[in-house]
Amino acid sequence: MLVILWVFQVMLLEPFYRVMKNYDIRAACETIEKNLNSDNLVKLLDHYALNRSIDVRIFSQTENEVISTAYNAESYVHSLSAGSINAIYRRAKQTGGVLADTVINESIQLKLNPSRTRLHSTITSTSVKTENLLYAKVVTMPGGSDRMILLSSRVTPVSSTVDTLKVQLICITAITIILSLILAIIISRRISKPIVKTNESAKQLAEGNFDISFEQGKYREVAELAETLNFAAKELSKTEGLRREIISNISHELRTPITMIAGYAEMMRDLPGESTPENLQIIIDEANRLTALVGDILDLSSYQAGTQILSPEHMSLTELLSDITTRYSKLTEQDGYSITFSCAEDIHVYADKLKLSQVVYNLIGNAVNYSPDDRRVEIFQRRIDDCVRVEVTDHGPGIPPDKIRYIWDRFYKVDTTKRAKINGTGLGLSIAKNILILHNARYGVETDQNAGSTFWFELPIEKE
Ligand code: ADP
Repeated sequence: MLVILWVFQVMLLEPFYRVMKNYDIRAACETIEKNLNSDNLVKLLDHYALNRSIDVRIFSQTENEVISTAYNAESYVHSLSAGSINAIYRRAKQTGGVLADTVINESIQLKLNPSRTRLHSTITSTSVKTENLLYAKVVTMPGGSDRMILLSSRVTPVSSTVDTLKVQLICITAITIILSLILAIIISRRISKPIVKTNESAKQLAEGNFDISFEQGKYREVAELAETLNFAAKELSKTEGLRREIISNISHELRTPITMIAGYAEMMRDLPGESTPENLQIIIDEANRLTALVGDILDLSSYQAGTQILSPEHMSLTELLSDITTRYSKLTEQDGYSITFSCAEDIHVYADKLKLSQVVYNLIGNAVNYSPDDRRVEIFQRRIDDCVRVEVTDHGPGIPPDKIRYIWDRFYKVDTTKRAKINGTGLGLSIAKNILILHNARYGVETDQNAGSTFWFELPIEKE
């Protein structure tokens, strides 16, 4: 800023001033030309003389001088002799009617030097040089006669102004530098230091230190940055915890069937009497469990990566629910389960049949698994305005209220002590949730401890 100030106010002041003067005098001449026959001409000339220091004389071929104004006594155009004016007129005519020139005018100034005794007062004369811009324009009037507008304006020397400005600028430069230094110290204390600290803490966070706390500075932006980073650190630490938990869960879930398979196979190899179909069935069951688990993990990761796409079709939801209920009933009736399906009408939806049946299978499977004492599972299909609501109700132990929000998470199991008893991976509801989200369906669970749970989801009804 200081350099710009110096350049414009000191180095370029004079050229700027000259350009502006030139522009002024040309603009004045054009306005006067337009108003040559106007009643306002005198006022206009007065305005230029007083406000713009432009002296004007207008000559007519027939009447010699028409009108003139003078800004000051040293007006250049008014000091010109008739011969000089004629010469200007001729030169203007030769150069297409316009003449622009810079002239140095020398005049003698007399000065009275008073003395104590009046008799001895002296008069001294000094020669004063002035620079003037001269502008002449010859205008041909409608009658064919010429008029010449002659303008002059004194170019005041700017060197004294430049000197004053220089002194001012030196002061401004000194004050600005001192103020900038003070400001720089304040800014570095209040903004830069907290940012440097934040940067150091961020590096530690990147190295895996999630307990780091970001210091909040005095400024809102720095405080907000620290707050966001603190939040990010907290979330990262949660994600890290979840990652560890998932790895330990997966390894645990994989290890159990593998141990069983290896154990039974070794037993059958070493003890010939143990090569029974029952033991073989255990190995097959455990291998199937492994396959299902790996399938679930793959499914879930593809849902989470967003690579799973739906293949929706117009389908009868009622038919699907009825089919699944029948199949499940057959599978569980020897264990004493009663699975019922109630609906009032046949309802169609636009959904991915295979994936939707995966959800229903999962909900019924959970209801069967988690209500071992009361073996009643009820499936309802209800119309709610434009939506259909599917409910799977069991009369099992229910879910503790504080655990409800976690059951849709990967690998989450409410009661891990029942793990051995119930064949669950903790992935079923998470997969169901992802499928329902893909369908834009609402879903949830209503549960009453010791009275059972109702898992539900809602889909828009497809109009026939
Ligand atoms: P899992 O394979 O263990 O069943 P899910 O994701 O299907 O995994 O379920 C997560 C957890 O939610 C289960 O471990 C269980 O604790 C709880 N849960 C799910 N369905 C029911 C239900 N009908 N009754 C009680 N608890 C349930």
